[in-house]
Amino acid sequence: MTDIDIDIDIDIAEIEAVSRRFEDSTAQEIIGWTVDYYDHNVALACSFQDCVIIDLAVSVDPGLEVIFLDTGYHFPETLKFVEQVRERYNLNLTVTSPGESAIGWPCGSEHCCEYRKVEPLGKALKGRAAWLTALKRSDSSVRADTPIVSWDATREMLKVNPLANWTDDDISSYIDSAGLPEHPLISQGYLSIGCAPTTRPVAPGEHPRAGRWADTDKTECGLHT
Ligand code: SF4
Repeated sequence: MTDIDIDIDIDIAEIEAVSRRFEDSTAQEIIGWTVDYYDHNVALACSFQDCVIIDLAVSVDPGLEVIFLDTGYHFPETLKFVEQVRERYNLNLTVTSPGESAIGWPCGSEHCCEYRKVEPLGKALKGRAAWLTALKRSDSSVRADTPIVSWDATREMLKVNPLANWTDDDISSYIDSAGLPEHPLISQGYLSIGCAPTTRPVAPGEHPRAGRWADTDKTECGLHT
């Protein structure tokens, strides 16, 4: 286990230093440190595009809460994959639903992501000391500076990205070597999978996230910005 002990709640500079020190740690070491430091008061938010972060996280903490944000607009294949992964790991899974505030805000409208993703995640994480994500720097230019550990000032908790320095090839290699199930849409060219109305497959050579909110200026749903 990585030997890092700090007063992380009050020292942003120290958090940044820890994040840098974790650059050479494995994802399991980072997850292990997080759940140990916060005595398991940690949850993982996962899009279920793949189950790499889940495989890693439950190998460290089998009872870790995993949160899936059901926007009401997911592909049926995604919902089936969620169920497949839940059964595979006997996951401690929380599936959120859009609240009443989402009524009248369909996909593409101004507050849809806010009321179907951001607000439900905030409620699901309430009381947690830290949350884990599968963000990678290689996802997009917007995410290129993603730290491994940062202070999430909005949710007032630590945010930990154990895969921040992984590449898409790292993800593929891990899926192959661990024999993990694959989201059924990946083989159809959907290399980044969000809500159905705003996700299209990408052509060979296109950036994997080019199929998300294509032909709009939007690049993020607000969970990480
Ligand atoms: S991607 Fe579309 S459907 Fe999904 S939460 Fe955002 S605006 Fe709504």
